[in-house]
Parts: sequence; structure tokens; C-alpha cells
Amino acid sequence: MNSEYRVLINGELCEAATKETMEVINPANGKVVGLAPKCTSLEIDRAAEAAWKAAPAWAEKAPTERAAIFFKMAELLRARRDEWAKLETMQYGGPIFKTYNFDMRFDAEHFEFMAGVGRAVTGKTLPVGPQAMSMTIRQPLGVVGLITPWNFPLVTAISKITPCLMMGNTAVVKPPSCAPLTVLKLGEIAVEAGIPPGVLNIVTGPGSTVGEALVKHPYIAKINFTGDSETGKRILALASAAVKPVACELGGKNAFIVLPDADMKATVEGAVWGGFFNSGQNCGASSRYLVHESVYDEFVEKFVAAAKLLRVGDPLNPETMIGPVAYKGHRDNIERFVARAKKSGAKLLLGGERPNTPETKDGYFVAPTIFGDCDPKSEIMQEEVFGPVAAATRFKTPEQAVEIANDSRFGLCASIWTKDIRQGLVMTKQLKVGTVWLNQHLSIVFECPWGGCKESGHSKENSIMVLDEYSMMKNVWIDLIGTPATPWQGKLG
Ligand code: NDP
Repeated sequence: MNSEYRVLINGELCEAATKETMEVINPANGKVVGLAPKCTSLEIDRAAEAAWKAAPAWAEKAPTERAAIFFKMAELLRARRDEWAKLETMQYGGPIFKTYNFDMRFDAEHFEFMAGVGRAVTGKTLPVGPQAMSMTIRQPLGVVGLITPWNFPLVTAISKITPCLMMGNTAVVKPPSCAPLTVLKLGEIAVEAGIPPGVLNIVTGPGSTVGEALVKHPYIAKINFTGDSETGKRILALASAAVKPVACELGGKNAFIVLPDADMKATVEGAVWGGFFNSGQNCGASSRYLVHESVYDEFVEKFVAAAKLLRVGDPLNPETMIGPVAYKGHRDNIERFVARAKKSGAKLLLGGERPNTPETKDGYFVAPTIFGDCDPKSEIMQEEVFGPVAAATRFKTPEQAVEIANDSRFGLCASIWTKDIRQGLVMTKQLKVGTVWLNQHLSIVFECPWGGCKESGHSKENSIMVLDEYSMMKNVWIDLIGTPATPWQGKLG
């Protein structure tokens, strides 16, 4: 694998002007995977200008022309599936079973999905009476800044790039510094697929400098961000100075609600998947388990027994279910959460210590950890740990479960486990979140909109609705009677 990577600006793969680089570390063993350019605001200026100049011609292209390029991108991604899945695993630790089967498949299919739905964008006609015809049209915004996280490095970037470009915008992408390499590789195939110079630009460098320069740049019409809620607040504050819109998809502390009649086998499988897939580094992870008191002991016993069977280790081994977390500082942060939860009186039921096997000794691993008898108001039930750490508590009535679930500054998603679909739907309407699953957790597909409320953000990813995030609605009024219909009609000579 190439160890030196290049940013993409105006169709050219280049270094930072300073020639400085950032090391990307494999969290499974602490070794360097590659070097990414450590850019400055200089590269943001160049990229924003290139995107600005490329915008009018790209906006004028027929959707069919953009779609043809997207199909080529999908083809090139499929041809690199093995190599890129491995690179993704090595740069942030997601197990190869995930990066190969989920991420790389999603990446190619997302280009195809958007190539289709982007050709089905419509406007509306509005009832304004016989004297005129009025309609809405959707138009591109111009240049959009896309700031992406590390927990699904390429997937989150592609989820933003495809609707952005398909709607006729141009883009400057800022990937995460700890895991930028697959997004940089995307720059290479963008050139090969024929994305015109300036339409897609990718610039790496620290969020505090390069990210902020992107947010503040006058050529950037909108920011679309996924990441931490605190970073989201900082970006919103910066953008507000220019009344610049920001779409954000932020953290979550998502409830997994088990009712007394739940199918226990399916529920436990869903609980392990929801809590531990991708080492719990999902904004949609089920991190708060609210369990009816009549089935709490049974659920907790079976949940712990099942989580014990998760294979933790080398993420390049196809059998591995839990790899390392993304970087050392993140591992240390998770461990601090666990230490505080132990002191808070929560009952440690599983894990809570660093795994120590030959496969894990040099990496940043966290053992699957489960706390029981948690106080719903405690930190472990309220804050996003973003690691393989689950916290459970009891409830007495469905109303109380909803009250506990809604007692959160986040509002991303929740799941309800029951055979009583009527009861599940009543609760679904009461939950203050953007997605509710009944008898499932973490089913995120690009046909369905994804995004929350409260401090989880307010925008949507995926589905045809995401195209609204990347376009502005323009109203057009066409006079049909030949004279302007004003109160001064006939009085002006
Ligand atoms: P951040 O929110 O800090 O990073 C996400 C992206 O934002 C990165 O590209 C980052 O760049 C960039 N960024 C950081 N600061 C700024 C800034 N001031 N202006 C513009 N861009 C900026 O998340 P972290 O990677 O540090 O993760 C911390 C926590 O965030 C996690 O523990 C988790 O709780 C949460 N998180 C939530 C995600 C979600 O999907 N909801 C995804 C990822 C994280 P750089 O990498 O260079 O700092």
C-alpha cells in the first residue's frame, strides 16, 4: 500500500504547500499506516476557489451526465473493494467483516442510488389563481463544505459527497485527521472517473485550523458536518457570523427499550449488535438499555452471556467482531468513563478492563463492558461514550420507559422490543428521536432518512429527502394576463 497520500485540489493530487504531513496510526498495533498532507488555510483557499470556479458549469450539466460519472465511481470502488476495506480497517480499527461487507458495498451502492434519485427531483405548482402560474424549482447552493468523522470514514464522506454533487453543487471535503486515507484514495478515482477539476476537492489537516477555515470561507455556501455535538456547536457558532447554514448530524445516547413480552432471543441478539457493532462507535448505538422489571434479570443474564462470546482481536481477521477503538486518546477517554461509572454505584456486569491477549496488547482495545442497575440520571446513562460500553436500568411501565428515554439532551434514535405492535407504535409517537425501530436496532439504509433532534442535530442524511439539504428552493411566478396585477393597475398612465 502507498504510504504517502495526496489531497485533491482542482483535479490535481498534491502535497501541502508546507510539505508537512500527519501520521495515521493503526489502532490495532500502534504502527504508522500512512502519511496524510497536513494542510493549512492556504489549501482551503485554493480548494474553495477551484470549487467556486467549477460550480457554474457543473450546475448546468444534465443529471444524466452526472449519473454516468457516478456509475463509473461505483465500478472503480468495486474493483478496489479488497484493498480499500483493508486500508479502512488498518486506519481506524473497524473489523474487516464490516469494512468489506458493509462499508465498501454501501460506498459503491450509494453512488448508484444517488445517480438514480438525483434524476427524480421535482418541483411543485402552486394554486395562485387564474392570472398567473407559480412553481418551485430546486437549485444547487454553490460550494458546500463537508466535514466528516472517523467512525465510518469513507461511508460518511460518500453519504455527503453523492447528494451534494448530484444536486449540482461542488464540494470541499475535510476528512478526520486520524482516518483520512480512504477519502484521499477517493480523490484518486475521482480523477479517473472523470469528475471535472474543481468539482470535488479533498483537503486534510487539523479541524481547529483547516476545518475552521473551511467553515469561515466566504465561497462556502453551506457546511454539512457529522461528529461530536460540541464540535457541532462550535461550527454552528462560527457559521452564524455569516448566517451560513449548517446541517449537522451529531451524537446520540440511544434507548433500547425491552417490554415484558419481547422475544428474548431476538432481543438479546439485537442488544449485542446495537451496542457493540463497530465497537459501539456509532452515533446510533444502543447505549442505554431500559428493561421492564419483570424481564430485567433474564435479559441482563443473557445479554452478558452473549456479549462474552464476542471475538475481540486483530481486526484483519475475518472472525473478529470487536476491533480496537479508533485512536489512543479515544481509548483513554472511554476508560475514564468506565472508571467514573464504577465509582458511581453502577454494577459492573462484564468487562471494565483492557483486554490483554497477544492480539490486543499493542493496540487500543476496550473489552465489551456492561453496567447494570444504573441510575438513569448518571453520566453513563446520559453521555455518549462512543465505545463498547452498555448501561442498563429497570422500568415499571411503558410511560416510565418513555420518560426515561426522553430525559436526554440527545434525540437521535431508539428501539422498542415487543410483540405488541400497537403498544410499540403508541410509544414510537411519544419518543423524541428521529428514528424508531420496532424489534430491530441499527438498521440504517440509504432508502430511509437518518438524523435526529435536540443535540443530535437537525438535518437528514440518506433517502431522496437528503437532496433538500443540498439545494435551495426557488419560487417562480409567471404572469398569464399580460399586465401586472397590482392595486395601481390603470392609474399609471
Ligand atoms: P470531532 O467532532 O472532533 O471530529 C469530526 C470532524 O470534525 C473531523 O473531521 C474533525 O477534524 C473536524 N473538526 C474538529 N474540530 C473542528 C472545528 N473546530 N471546526 C471544524 N471542524 C472540526 O469528533 P472526534 O473525532 O474528535 O470524536 C470525538 C467524539 O465525537 C467521539 O468520542 C464521539 O462521541 C463523537 N463522534 C460522533 C460521531 C457521530 O457520528 N455522531 C462521529 C464521530 C465522533 P480533526 O479530525 O482534524 O479534528
